[in-house]
Amino acid sequence: MKYHSTRNQIANSALSPAAALIQGLAPDGGLYVPVTFPKPNWELADLLTLSYQAIAEKILNLFFPDFTPAQIKQVVADAYADQWDKDEIVPLVKHAGNYYMELYHGPTLAFKDVALQVLPRLMTRSVTLERLDKDIVILTATSGDTGTASMRGFSDQAGTQVLVFYPYGGVSPVQLKQMLSQKGRNLQAFAIKGNFDDAQSEVKRIFNDEQFKDKLAAGGYQFSSANSMNIGRLMPQIVYYFYSYAQLVNRGEIKLGQAVNFAVPTGNFGDILAGYYAKKLGLPIHKLICASDRNNVLTDFFHTGTYNRLRPFYLTNSPAMDILVSSNLERLLFDVDGENDEEIKAWMKELDQAGRYQVSPEVFAKLQEIFASGYAEEDEVEQEIHRLYDLDGYVIDPHTAVGSFVTKQYQAVTGDTTPTIINSTASPYKFPETVFHAITGQAVAEKGLPAIKQLHTLLGGELPQAAAALFADQPRTEKIIAKEDMETIIRQKLNLK
Ligand SMILES: *Cc1c(COP(=O)(O)O)cnc(C)c1O
Repeated sequence: MKYHSTRNQIANSALSPAAALIQGLAPDGGLYVPVTFPKPNWELADLLTLSYQAIAEKILNLFFPDFTPAQIKQVVADAYADQWDKDEIVPLVKHAGNYYMELYHGPTLAFKDVALQVLPRLMTRSVTLERLDKDIVILTATSGDTGTASMRGFSDQAGTQVLVFYPYGGVSPVQLKQMLSQKGRNLQAFAIKGNFDDAQSEVKRIFNDEQFKDKLAAGGYQFSSANSMNIGRLMPQIVYYFYSYAQLVNRGEIKLGQAVNFAVPTGNFGDILAGYYAKKLGLPIHKLICASDRNNVLTDFFHTGTYNRLRPFYLTNSPAMDILVSSNLERLLFDVDGENDEEIKAWMKELDQAGRYQVSPEVFAKLQEIFASGYAEEDEVEQEIHRLYDLDGYVIDPHTAVGSFVTKQYQAVTGDTTPTIINSTASPYKFPETVFHAITGQAVAEKGLPAIKQLHTLLGGELPQAAAALFADQPRTEKIIAKEDMETIIRQKLNLK
């Protein structure tokens, strides 16, 4: 089992899973994908009685065979333990005729925990496997959820340093509190005076700066990344597609082998790509419904076959989906296009230089078979939260509401009655301001922690442990820097010459 880049398949350039995991992104700018997609050595029927952890072991063993099954077992046992609010890790509930797969019961209240509890544990073991004599530096630009979940996942993991950069004033009050409260001797977070794209492009520049890499190496460090392009983040997300399917069979809601749909609130296309990989592994999926917010570049793409990032960028009430270039789409195109790396390279170059590309009619036809798509405006997001709450008191967050709204719209337009699972990607308590407003029509009295309290008073029930913990933690003071100073800060913090 080896991995190679979507842009360059020169013979012998393939890497072991551990090496690809440390590399993160391929040096040619492409993304690592399996040279030969693995075939399960088990049947769907074998999974029905298994725990979340046992299914996770089966999936991870397929994609990371250079670790021993005992190592994978330990990684999984540590990743999915009592830092989760629910024993089943990912509960599945039914409301208004659809199923909601709650992926947010982990330590930072969003679905990124599912993968970011695994990635750091695989990373430290990869360093040993590859006999790397350097510490790993995780450099992350974040608009919120990735920063909190990476800091939590990497907290005090041996041989790693985490440096997070986020836009000053540009993350939600709850996310800010989470980042400033997260304990760990190897963690640092900085607010930059600029927007998310400023942070992201400076991180990318530093990441690819050869001179800087030499300085890092001399200091005993090597860069890696924890973003959703890393195979260590992508593959653990396949697990919950299988797990939720097994739950539906076990409950008698569907027959074994019957097809289901998944609706996925999408940003960087990592979550929904994991669904596509689940389908490749044999999970009976009819449609993958790609749900976007007002930044609907993917909706247009799946309707026209043209990807066009030249459009206004909107900050919305579903911030984790505010994105114009969905990186993981490249992996889907590579697969659907018969692994034609030259064509992928050409399309990505067009995207970079002209801001747009158009896929071939053959690729477009294949995408249409598997994917449906749609988007929700901000007021539709609030209406959807309100609709579900009114119906039976079920509360969803704004990202999940995008998925839910688009599902309802898809079902009305197509008449498709296939059982549908909506990926529920964040806890309502992570975005209390929007949720409170959607339900009551009133603004919260004060943003952040007071808003959590106000929402909890309204909803009653138990507060998630990760939300309750925020009230106890003493936050550090925010460190604010100029965007030009990012490189200097990294150098200082790592004691580089
Ligand atoms: C990151 C995130 C998404 C988008 O997931 P992708 O894998 O980037 O498509 C959706 N919802 C929430 C709450 C997120 O944090």
